Amino acid sequence: MGNLLIANARVFTAGVPDAEPVDVLIKDGRIAAIGPGVGNGLSHGETRGGAHGETHGGAHGGAHGEAQVLDARGASVTPGLLDAHCHAYGVSLSLDEMEHWPLSLIALKAARRLEAALRRGFTTVRDVGGGDPGLAQAIREGLLRSPRYLYTGPALSQTGGHGDGRDPLLGGTPGCGCCTNVIDGPDRMRVRVRELLWQGAHAIKLLTSGGVVSPADPLAIPQFSPAEIQVAVEEATRRGTYVTAHAYSPAAIKHSVENGVRCIEHGNLLDEETAAMMAAAGASLIPTLAAYDAMDRRGDQVGLTPVGREKNTQVLAAGKEAVKIARAAGVRIGFGTDLMGALEDEQLQGLRLQCEVEGIERTLEAATATNAAIFGLSDVGRVQEGFVADLLVFTGNLREQPELLWEGRRTVIQAGEIVSPCC
Ligand SMILES: [Zn+2]
Repeated sequence: MGNLLIANARVFTAGVPDAEPVDVLIKDGRIAAIGPGVGNGLSHGETRGGAHGETHGGAHGGAHGEAQVLDARGASVTPGLLDAHCHAYGVSLSLDEMEHWPLSLIALKAARRLEAALRRGFTTVRDVGGGDPGLAQAIREGLLRSPRYLYTGPALSQTGGHGDGRDPLLGGTPGCGCCTNVIDGPDRMRVRVRELLWQGAHAIKLLTSGGVVSPADPLAIPQFSPAEIQVAVEEATRRGTYVTAHAYSPAAIKHSVENGVRCIEHGNLLDEETAAMMAAAGASLIPTLAAYDAMDRRGDQVGLTPVGREKNTQVLAAGKEAVKIARAAGVRIGFGTDLMGALEDEQLQGLRLQCEVEGIERTLEAATATNAAIFGLSDVGRVQEGFVADLLVFTGNLREQPELLWEGRRTVIQAGEIVSPCC
């Protein structure tokens, strides 16, 4: 693996004030040094426009040997983005389709989705409903270009819950289980959680309230018994990881957190009392504002059912308010998207929506350092010496032009390797 020098980079990373451009030296996939002149002895002659995709290889000699040089020209360099809520196997808005298409088709579509996420600048994703040991192994073997891939495997649902895609009138049997599993009772929960963790799941995902795309469960009503949630938490905690839960209403969030869940997905209907409880318990919130905005605008195009449309209306407007309430209560706030099917191309729009509530500094922190902390990753999510060199190089100053984060060109660097000149 070669060295890479990003010259004239305006480092934008959590907790560090704006400063003059510096150089960022990358060796063996990690950030080796940051500062003025750290590349001295490396760069000779003119280097040009990194964010435009031009780099110069083979600068000479010096203490660090040879390096490819990428001139940021004073533009922002940020950590690679982390998406805490995506679904590689979420290739449709219809749970029924996803559970009945052959897994070979779903996996190949997933490969395209993951590569597209990486090209947008997401160098790490957490899949909270889908993924399996085979997909993870294919990524490790380099069979596809993908962000670093953390997955929970199928999200676990009670019978008649958000992950039960059957039509209540038609009944029938659940499908392949690649995105959701229907699990009832503490004993079955214990076995399934142990299996998922044994097979490499990063964490466990529970569906503890109704959801937009499921046909017959009210949004607000809590799902799973306390004993079922507690068993999942007990097994995950003993294994050194955590449980995250899909929940919208205060009742469902309370039900989850009281029984040991440490991360809440969506949380759109959050109120002050519940936010205070989350903060006291150290539970994090992953807003997924992109999903509701996209389903609202493009629901017809992607086949959102009338029931789904009605449910989406209930959570759309409340999503941004929930972020404000969580922030005021001191809840740790990450960033997720939750885009199913063709809506995946809206992934960067989630940053715009969160920025409208939180501003650029907090939004970038949520999608980098905070998500990394929630995932328990200690060496990604910051532009810092010793960290993995997952970085984005933009074409301007993000602090002055926040919109570059969601609509600007960027060079994506993953573990010190340039993924794409720009996108
Ligand atoms: Zn989801």
